[in-house]
Amino acid sequence: MISGRGAPTRRQLLSAIGMMGGTAALYAMMTEFGHAAETRFPGPPNLSGARPGASVIILGAGLAGMLAAYELRKAGYKVRILEYQGRAGGRNWSLYGGDKFTEMGGATQNVQFAKGNYLNPGPWRIPHHHRTLLHYCKAFGVALEPFIQFNHNAYVHNTDAFGGKPQRYRALAADFEGNVAELLGKAIDQKSLDTRLTAEDQDRLKEALRNWGMLDGDMRYAKNLRSSSHRGYDLPPGGGVNGAPQPSDLLPFDQVVRSGIATNMAFFMNEEFQTTMFQPVGGMGKIGEGFARQVGDLVTYNAKVTKLFQDKTGVTVTYTDTAKGGTTEAKADFCVCTIPLAVLSQIETNMTEKKTAAIQAVPYSNSVKIGLEMKRRFWEEDAEIFGGHSFTNQDISLISYPNFDYFKTGPAVLLGAFASNAGGYRLAGMTPEQRIETALEQGSVFHPESYRKEFMNGASVAWNRVPWVMGCCARWNEDTRKTHYQELVAVEDRIVLAGEHASYVGCWMEGALLSSIDAITRLHKRALEA
Ligand SMILES: Cc1cc2nc3c(=O)[nH]c(=O)nc-3n(C[C@H](O)[C@H](O)[C@H](O)COP(=O)(O)OP(=O)(O)OC[C@H]3O[C@@H](n4cnc5c(N)ncnc54)[C@H](O)[C@@H]3O)c2cc1C
Repeated sequence: MISGRGAPTRRQLLSAIGMMGGTAALYAMMTEFGHAAETRFPGPPNLSGARPGASVIILGAGLAGMLAAYELRKAGYKVRILEYQGRAGGRNWSLYGGDKFTEMGGATQNVQFAKGNYLNPGPWRIPHHHRTLLHYCKAFGVALEPFIQFNHNAYVHNTDAFGGKPQRYRALAADFEGNVAELLGKAIDQKSLDTRLTAEDQDRLKEALRNWGMLDGDMRYAKNLRSSSHRGYDLPPGGGVNGAPQPSDLLPFDQVVRSGIATNMAFFMNEEFQTTMFQPVGGMGKIGEGFARQVGDLVTYNAKVTKLFQDKTGVTVTYTDTAKGGTTEAKADFCVCTIPLAVLSQIETNMTEKKTAAIQAVPYSNSVKIGLEMKRRFWEEDAEIFGGHSFTNQDISLISYPNFDYFKTGPAVLLGAFASNAGGYRLAGMTPEQRIETALEQGSVFHPESYRKEFMNGASVAWNRVPWVMGCCARWNEDTRKTHYQELVAVEDRIVLAGEHASYVGCWMEGALLSSIDAITRLHKRALEA
């Protein structure tokens, strides 16, 4: 019941609603408050009442474009997609053995991975609460499996700590927490928290610190079996006569701080990364294939859009056939344009000055991914690492271990780099061969005995050299959002833009899909008014 003086607290209100209307009402109310809602997915759009024969041309067969096509056709529109490439999926893409890829600058790579191995050059992981994507994966029969985001047994390397020797995440994190807990315990003893907490609560906090930091009875973080149960043992527990475990030495705290471990610990606290993540079985490109099974018949491939014009009667799109040559004009009543802004800003249009300014205002980030095929799974066999990432402050930024086919004999592909910012630009400036050499050199810090010895072949994608996106993802900031975002997403006469760049879930597939649903819902409304 609501009680007490003044306005009810949110908790009081919710518990009262729960009592009156049961859990359904409580859930609805919590969603209003933004608590229970883990997703902004409203469910598939309801686009009823489309005018017979009304047509929509969609530019780009990435996830945003294909979802728009799927839902608009279902609603009764006559739909067509123009796609630059010879395949659907856009950034949703996997490279397999036998694939060929030419980047801007002319370098061509022939991927040599063994059957079943792949590199996801773009998206590679799906958070648990990206419900739009999860919904359509299920609807379109795309099988998902777990993606290991957090592996305590993987390494953290920093050239400025431990003489450049990588340490296990587990030991670094445990030592960081243990030392911080001990220091905070001392601060309590020195009365530094007297103004913040009562004596009773200080006792509670000390108890919590003892448990969190694995401190001993004297509130010290020390070498013993208690700290080793978090950081790992010198000799792990065994069976029989010599089964007793041996505790491990602690790492020097100054080096732990220098390793930057707190950044890694904070990284895993991101909402997207906190809990179970997924990947499609067989490569991320399987999602694009799943969507293409639904709408592939609507796609004109190798159609590079060069002009986009509209007038009172409709939309006219000019495209070049990149396979056979020649230029064609296509017409429709309306247009959903999902072409990434870095490309769209170079296409001739008659959109308003404000819209054009918005399209041109958003820079794109860069990113380089490198796949390295190794003869055997030495990270599993020699280092007991099954999935997850090892981090470094070198340009490659991390290496990541495959999350499938554990224990399998034969070659497997490691992600040898996921570089962005300055490191990404340095790698992008290299030839594909130089990138692989750099990835081998830098990645060797983690597995020095095996990395070069077991290497077979590799492939890389530098996203600012990919001609159909020219970058990794749209990079909004507070100012550009304030000045340009609403203008960018607004329906302008007969055209609406969609894609990850037209969302607040930037650089996630979920953002592309949420943007698409929102855009076609508004375009449909506009079409009904026309
Ligand atoms: C390195 C990297 C890592 C990522 N990691 C993740 C991740 O782990 N999880 C996640 O959910 N997301 C991730 N993302 C983001 C995700 O890939 C995108 O948000 C999403 O795929 C974008 O979909 P889209 O439909 O908006 O654009 P796109 O997929 O880019 O589709 C646009 C389409 O337009 C076509 N096109 C371009 N120019 C023209 C033209 N002139 N004429 C005709 N067609 C044209 C393109 O060929 C493409 O097919 C990552 C992206 C990158 C690059």
